[in-house]
Amino acid sequence: MSIGTVAAWRERAARLFPGGVNSPVRAYRAVGGEQPIMVRGQAAFAWDADGNRYIDYVGAFGPLMIGHAHPAVVEAIRTAVEAGGPFGATTPAEVRLAELIRSRMPSIERLRFVNSGTEAAMSALRVARAATGRDLVIKFEGGYHGHADSMLVDAGSGAVTLSIPGSAGVTKSVAAETLVATYNDLSSVAAQLDTHRGMVAAVIVEPVAANMGVVPPAPGFLTGLRQLTDRAGAVLIFDEVITGFRVAPGGAQELYGVTPDLTVLGKIIGGGLPVGAYGGRAELIDLVAPAGPVYQAGTLSGHPVVMAAGEATLLQLTPDVYTAIEARADRLQEGLRRAGMSVARVGSLLTVFFRDMAPVNFREAKECDTLAFGKFFHRMRAAGVLLPPSQFEAWFLSTAHYDAGIDATLAAASS
Ligand SMILES: *Cc1c(COP(=O)(O)O)cnc(C)c1O
Repeated sequence: MSIGTVAAWRERAARLFPGGVNSPVRAYRAVGGEQPIMVRGQAAFAWDADGNRYIDYVGAFGPLMIGHAHPAVVEAIRTAVEAGGPFGATTPAEVRLAELIRSRMPSIERLRFVNSGTEAAMSALRVARAATGRDLVIKFEGGYHGHADSMLVDAGSGAVTLSIPGSAGVTKSVAAETLVATYNDLSSVAAQLDTHRGMVAAVIVEPVAANMGVVPPAPGFLTGLRQLTDRAGAVLIFDEVITGFRVAPGGAQELYGVTPDLTVLGKIIGGGLPVGAYGGRAELIDLVAPAGPVYQAGTLSGHPVVMAAGEATLLQLTPDVYTAIEARADRLQEGLRRAGMSVARVGSLLTVFFRDMAPVNFREAKECDTLAFGKFFHRMRAAGVLLPPSQFEAWFLSTAHYDAGIDATLAAASS
């Protein structure tokens, strides 16, 4: 079968998948226009089926910290595939990746690999409920933790883009067990903990909010969450699916010096293949079967090919890499600011907000001029720069985004 044009593949996809896609934001509803059909990626570039080349800031929505088809990752995957498996048994690959993760994120004494960030968040919440014997959890408005029923309450990411506050098909009783607080507002958390004294199992937070656009934690916010959860006997869960191994070698918990009880991981640790993990204090994770009473399993969990891709990726992420990527991200941020834009950035995560000032919470993020974002998005796309197709998604820089690409991006943005 020959490679068809973008239009032809799009039409075939439209007849097969809801909205023509296998994940909602890909459909471009938030920016108008039609989805691309991608066929190749190399370093910071992606090519569509018509042969158009883009500087890629989507980065697969987070995993591609070292760009597309990094030779070390390709080689690791090839070697792992050729070794056969999976085996339905433990392999050295998962032990090696787990040790690497733990060495960089010491709050993770033990962990469990799963197949997506969704699964990881869902399982971490299950552990927190088991550990505390409590039912309620607190999340933040605009925080995204995957699509498990209980987390589709005031969620960010695609759920914002589509203006679906929760989701059809989530029962009232499940939704009622999720309380919502305001990001960067400790008093809103304290109020929920007060009202539901002794009933809150966990507070789950993206330590840097990245699914309402990038919204950094205000000074003292994460420390405050640590203190409030300690006082309430609730488990503090950092969802570092995006920030883990991106904003610092040890994630947001290292960058801000706040230690959670449980951490949720995904994206980068799979090197571009499907993955998730949850981990934390040993006595919490040892509640998981077969060590403990919390059931959680996965046929393909710890898949040797995925583990090899993740290990190869993390091994590339040496401390000097963070310095280099941060310098380029800073140059991009400053250039965009000089072009008159409101930019928020943490490490290699960045959002241009169509609002006078970058927002501090989801309510402010929603005030952005999404039509203006759509116009900007299409102008950049026409100039060969592919941004995430929503105001509420972060731009992801990789180690492969060199100065020339940053310059081309800035030239497109200020034209
Ligand atoms: C992407 C994401 C998830 C969900 O991960 P999937 O692998 O898409 O299920 C959870 N939390 C955060 C913060 C994310 O960005």
